[in-house]
Amino acid sequence: MRLRALAKINLGLDIVGKREDGYHEVRMIMQTIQMYDILELYRKKSPGISLTTNLPYIPCDERNLAYKAAKLLMDEFHVEEGLCIKLFKSIPVAAGMAGGSADAAAAFVGVNKLFQLGLSERELIERAVKVGADVPYCIIRGTALAEGIGERLSWIPQVPKCYVLVGKPGVSVSTKMAYETLNLNEVVHHPDIDGMIADIKNKDLHGMVSKMGNVFEPGIIGKYPVIQEIKDLMEANGALKAMMSGSGPTVFGIFDDAKKMHAASAVLRESRLAKTVFATEVFNRMEGFTNDK
Ligand code: ATP
Repeated sequence: MRLRALAKINLGLDIVGKREDGYHEVRMIMQTIQMYDILELYRKKSPGISLTTNLPYIPCDERNLAYKAAKLLMDEFHVEEGLCIKLFKSIPVAAGMAGGSADAAAAFVGVNKLFQLGLSERELIERAVKVGADVPYCIIRGTALAEGIGERLSWIPQVPKCYVLVGKPGVSVSTKMAYETLNLNEVVHHPDIDGMIADIKNKDLHGMVSKMGNVFEPGIIGKYPVIQEIKDLMEANGALKAMMSGSGPTVFGIFDDAKKMHAASAVLRESRLAKTVFATEVFNRMEGFTNDK
């Protein structure tokens, strides 16, 4: 079985409070994009899970979120056969694009099908949150509002058609560090998440884009000014708006025209500001996990 594990961007990211257990309460508009890792799943006679990946620095044991997800289901349902996972990563790692969570989501969906466990999407989501707060979203995909610690999801209509240029500079930001360095009292600009949702419902791309914001941006840009340089380059080359995704450092630019995006992509490559440059578009949730492109 071959599955696509798709990356996400945050069109809006707000933090509205901190819980007593230390977790932050978020309000985020999540959007899946057509950038993905591939998971190949094979049944094997000998019990246990083996995982291989094309990136030498990714763990291949229980620390890998795809492994963790598969094990959680296989243990619960006492699957006696074994599983071999081949993971081909294209989503930048530790980049604010939920790569690990997407892999875990694909493993949940794949193991459920491969071993005919018969779990509904809702039942998969209930288990997914044990692997990570973003994993439930990576199962439903498309455009959604995530609240709570990111696990409470509401549907939003699909975002108007647009093109997305991704640029990841050669630095890594740990999500944990980003939360630790964020001082909620110092956040001066909170994005208008409800206004964005209204614009999406009205299919008003320009209105939505004008309200985009990410509360992590000022702090992370302070540490890595290259993020601002990539944003400026994208906006000078036709992006309606460019913003950091999640806790960074990946920047994405929203374009209403594919040609403009490809031209900006060429300029970004030439600039060498970004280590990964990828031109793509938003993903419609009606497309399946195994609908390979
Ligand atoms: P998020 O957007 O959810 O904050 P991220 O982009 O910051 O995610 P990931 O790429 O998911 O981060 O990975 C962060 C860490 O998780 C890496 O340092 C890596 O070692 C570990 N990890 C575990 N499983 C995976 C996986 N399947 N793919 C990538 N990283 C993984």
